[in-house]
Amino acid sequence: MRSSRVIDGHNDLPLKLRWHYQNKLSKIDLRTLNKTGTNIQKLKTGLVGAQFWSVYVLCSAQNKDAVRLTLEQIDVVKRMCESYQEFELVTTSHGIANVPDDKIACLIGIEGGHTIDSSLAALRMYYELGVRYMSLTHTCNTPWAETSSNHVHNFYPRVKGLTAFGKEVVKEMNRLGMMIDLSHASDATARAVLKTSRAPIIFSHSSAFSVCNHSRNVPDDILKLLKKNTGIIMVSFSTAMLACGDGTVNISTVADHFDHTRKIAGSTSIGIGSDYEGATHFPEGLEDVSKYPALIEELLRRRWTDSELRGVLRENILRVFTEVEKVQHKSSSANPSEEEIPPEKILHSCRLDLRRPPGPITHSHAASSWGELNSLIATVMTTLLFLCK
Ligand SMILES: [Zn+2]
Repeated sequence: MRSSRVIDGHNDLPLKLRWHYQNKLSKIDLRTLNKTGTNIQKLKTGLVGAQFWSVYVLCSAQNKDAVRLTLEQIDVVKRMCESYQEFELVTTSHGIANVPDDKIACLIGIEGGHTIDSSLAALRMYYELGVRYMSLTHTCNTPWAETSSNHVHNFYPRVKGLTAFGKEVVKEMNRLGMMIDLSHASDATARAVLKTSRAPIIFSHSSAFSVCNHSRNVPDDILKLLKKNTGIIMVSFSTAMLACGDGTVNISTVADHFDHTRKIAGSTSIGIGSDYEGATHFPEGLEDVSKYPALIEELLRRRWTDSELRGVLRENILRVFTEVEKVQHKSSSANPSEEEIPPEKILHSCRLDLRRPPGPITHSHAASSWGELNSLIATVMTTLLFLCK
């Protein structure tokens, strides 16, 4: 593990920073923070080399201020990664692979497609800010994709699978080089995305449905499609998703998910997406980010080979990320999509339609007088500036 440090697909520390500290980083020391299972000391003990920090905004912000909250969570991840010398913010597979041994690479993933407010422009701006994956849904439908959690929220109940606009989101993510995360998406959404995407996809924190039939886990037929797609499932450590019955949940339970997934999709389709700080309970022996080596020890005991484990720890996700970047390079001549979601698909009174409203002639006269006044002011200002020089 010292030469193959973990790349973890999903950690919700930014959410905890908001809940406990209102994102006030000046009030805490991330090296020793002990209100969470994640701090820098523990990440080092756990031999973590890179972390996708989850920018998660609750579904209840959909159609309200989800975009602002997303920007604030991106801001806190960037500030966190820039203010500690142990972290290095990166945005490419090359950046992860080349981070020095004494540093942890930081990446940003967005959890929940409601954060783009059905705007491809917003999606593109998130990419500009460094976001490198987006989960298409959290526990709510968006106007264009269906969640696996049917009864948590009542947004857009008629949306099934991936709509026509959803396909545009997928294509735009392919063009941008942003990984598509299907954790939390419904099986119908996952199947549609696997048909549409030109790049491998990820499940950033999901486990195997055949081992525990939780709605957020991935059934075998989709694991087979995932293998064909050359994507990756990063196994979650959330006890609710690991064991559906009673009894203790331990490292062996997690390893059962690894064994099953390897049997169906092969070892090159597997990674680790702990969901630390997001899930409420973790297995015995995997309580916090210092414990990854214990899982690898168990997999070694189960005769996973060194090369399979190097794949699980980092090479599989690096391969997927590199493939996604290749699709981006191949798309360099494609124009940004100007598709819009049909307005009737969004039940959203906060949205302002910026087209000029049709109105009586007096309005347009007022508008044109206003325009003339503006240009007069501009001329006066330019003249004054010229005189000042
Ligand atoms: Zn989640």
